Amino acid sequence: MKNKQKLQQEQESTLNDLLSNPDLIYKGAINKWGHHLQLDMLVEECAELIASVNRLRRGRTKDEAVIEELADVDILIGQMRLVFDQAEIDEIKRKKLTRLAERVGLIRLSFKGRLASPAANCEARRN
Ligand SMILES: [Mg+2]
Repeated sequence: MKNKQKLQQEQESTLNDLLSNPDLIYKGAINKWGHHLQLDMLVEECAELIASVNRLRRGRTKDEAVIEELADVDILIGQMRLVFDQAEIDEIKRKKLTRLAERVGLIRLSFKGRLASPAANCEARRN
C-alpha cells in the first residue's frame, strides 16, 4: 500500500515537472508525428479557433469553446517554437510588442525606433 502511494506521488511529480516545462512534451509530439504533421495540426487548430470565434460572435457557442481552441493553438505554437528559430520569433515579437506599446500610448519612440527621452516616456505613461 505504501509503495503504491509512493509510486503515485512520483508519477504526479513527474507530470508536474513536465507541465512546468512543456518543451519536453512538445519535443515528444514532434518526434512522434514529425513537424510536417504538427504543422498540419496547427492549421487545423487555427481553423477550429476561427470557427469557434465566429460561433461566439453569432451567440452560438460559449466562451469555454473558444478557450479550448485557444489552448489547442497555444500548444501547437509551443511546438512550432521548437521547429522554427525561437530567438528569431522572440526578436520579431519584441519589435511588434514595442510597436504595440507605442500605439496604445504606453511608450514613445524616437524617429529611429528607439525609446524617446525619459521625460516623453514618463508623460506617455501618465496619459
Ligand atoms: Mg481544437
